[in-house]
Amino acid sequence: MNNIVIGTSGWSYKDWLNVFYTSSEKMFQQYASVFKTVEVDSSFYNQPNLGLMRAIARSSPKGFVFSLKVPKTVTHVKLMDLEKGAMRDLKLFLSVLTPLKEGGKLGPLLFQLPPKPAEAFKGFHDFLESLPEGYDFAVEFRHPTWMNDEAFRVLSETNVGYCIVDEPLLSALLKVTGGFSYVRFHGRGKRPWYYYDYRVEELSEWKERLEELSSKAEKVYVYFNNHFRGYAVKNALQMMKIVGTAETPQEEALNKILSYFGEEGLRRTVSRVEAALSSGEKNVEKLVSAFLEGGRLERARELAGRVVIEEAGEENVKARVKEYTVAISLSERRLKHYCEDWVKRIGQKQFCKHVAALFLAMKPEESARILSLICRNLDNWVFETEAGKS
Ligand SMILES: [Zn+2]
Repeated sequence: MNNIVIGTSGWSYKDWLNVFYTSSEKMFQQYASVFKTVEVDSSFYNQPNLGLMRAIARSSPKGFVFSLKVPKTVTHVKLMDLEKGAMRDLKLFLSVLTPLKEGGKLGPLLFQLPPKPAEAFKGFHDFLESLPEGYDFAVEFRHPTWMNDEAFRVLSETNVGYCIVDEPLLSALLKVTGGFSYVRFHGRGKRPWYYYDYRVEELSEWKERLEELSSKAEKVYVYFNNHFRGYAVKNALQMMKIVGTAETPQEEALNKILSYFGEEGLRRTVSRVEAALSSGEKNVEKLVSAFLEGGRLERARELAGRVVIEEAGEENVKARVKEYTVAISLSERRLKHYCEDWVKRIGQKQFCKHVAALFLAMKPEESARILSLICRNLDNWVFETEAGKS
């Protein structure tokens, strides 16, 4: 899958500092030391300036590819209508891209449509037919009325690429038009979508899809737009790993990001534990909640009835929760358990639903005693895995 290039949408984000960037200076150079492509999205808001295009053409490594969003005057103001002068604006935009084009660094140019029905774009077909030669253009539809054979026929006929999206509104249709493929990951969050960190399983769903696209298209461009807190960088690097294009610099960058998020998760647990302790050491639910994120408290409550406590001594507690075991040793300060979620969360000293269910099932005073011991001495407690289930 060597024809797949993966990057992010934009690179200049302050909240990527520490997550990905080591300094706020020369962000682009830092970005280009890890990625081979980027989607420029600032060009959507303002016509880019020639000086900047010259500078990035010069300072980017050989083989680096820039995809750019077409200015919104073309897509949103003039609705790709020749009569409204949309082509004039597009050509002005293209003239500024000359340094990239001459340097062999120009990737596809993306028309991201506004979320309007297809019928609002009366001149769409004519506009695409009039596109100048020598460029790769792609269109991102953002309304369900575009999802029909007619729209795809127009793209095919005019040799314009279809932009595949991963987002909550439209489904990902693996169509290839225009000879190349263009995939954008917007996130699956709720308003805004890009406050979203894709899980590895969600990214892995794309392995086969990208393989398919890779075999159908000359080149596959993949961009992550979920830029909030650096998730885009993390997910882009994870995707490179999944499709097998990650090498040492990408592996290193990913490991650094993962450890950043792990440490940050631990800091989050510590501050919640401190808050729970200060609000009273008797409240089991509050203490347990300090170790839980997502909907795990709810799930732990549902499981509490299925906990079988096998030993509940001063020093040791042992229990079964469905087919899983949980063991607590107070003298050794160890919490032992094994499940997939536990493995993922112990770096942040977080509980899974099974461990939480045990604390909810125990006698409240006993549970509060143990939890406050853990809370007061969190640093010294070891959350460990025990291979195999009972
Ligand atoms: Zn578990």
